[in-house]
Amino acid sequence: MDKIKIEDLEIYAHHGVMKEENVLGQKFLLSLELGVDTCKAGRTDELRDSINYAEVAHFTNNYLKEHTFQLIEAVAEHIAEEILLHFPVKEIHVEVKKPWAPILLPMSHVSVEIHRKWHTVYLSIGSNMGDTKANLDKAVALLEAEPKIHVEKVSSYLVTKPYGGVEQDDFLNAALVVETLYTPQELLAVIGTIEKSLKRERMIHWGPRTIDLDILLYDDYVVREENLTIPHIEMHKRDFVLRPLVEIAPEAYHPLLKNSIYQLFEELNKE
Ligand code: ATP
Ligand code: CA
Ligand code: CA
Repeated sequence: MDKIKIEDLEIYAHHGVMKEENVLGQKFLLSLELGVDTCKAGRTDELRDSINYAEVAHFTNNYLKEHTFQLIEAVAEHIAEEILLHFPVKEIHVEVKKPWAPILLPMSHVSVEIHRKWHTVYLSIGSNMGDTKANLDKAVALLEAEPKIHVEKVSSYLVTKPYGGVEQDDFLNAALVVETLYTPQELLAVIGTIEKSLKRERMIHWGPRTIDLDILLYDDYVVREENLTIPHIEMHKRDFVLRPLVEIAPEAYHPLLKNSIYQLFEELNKE
């Protein structure tokens, strides 16, 4: 990925653990590496096709002056997220240097360096209760309404037979590609909130559901936590998951089965 860099941007601000630092302030040096595609701007030579680094620099300066954090870790984390939210940047590397950190020993500076990015996530979504199409539409709209989630692709909605032998109505299923700044656990909490807000409207009894949202893949992460398993444990066995997913993301990769969605789908339908 191409980069636009700003090095050692000097900002006078008030971050620090000690009270004196918050009152007097001191110098910080910010280095930013913005992961972008400069190809178009390189060809057109038009600023509107690139990121205006003057704007990023002023935005960073204002943000660091208007907010006060104790730790430079927090400075780096917050400015990384703000830039990812406000500029068309896919990933960012931030270094925060504090040359006057009060450690009473000679040094050039202390610093933290972090790398943050928009994560690519594949979601499965299903409904078999009420107006199933409206339920899927609403869930997609609620995801889209989250600033830290960009819905990139939505598959067509497929009518599928219920799975697992429980007597109930047909499902409407779809798959989504989203980009997110949420961690896997944060994203699970967000989809839980969306499920609740849709279930509340029509939930009469258990069994059929107005909406079910599952995380299938999150970058190439392997997560094994009590409440969260990524890749989704059953995804490769379910036609109603793979069929819509293969339509929008045949190249998506299962990091444990070491296979593309295209290959997993072919394999499932061979048997
Ligand atoms: P299945 O996971 O077999 O599709 P389900 O979707 O019907 O079953 P739910 O009742 O919706 O099951 O969810 C049960 C729990 O599964 C959730 O509370 C959540 O903590 C957990 N879970 C584990 N891994 C995931 C994942 N990848 N995506 C969503 N939920 C998950
Ligand atoms: Ca499910
Ligand atoms: Ca679920």
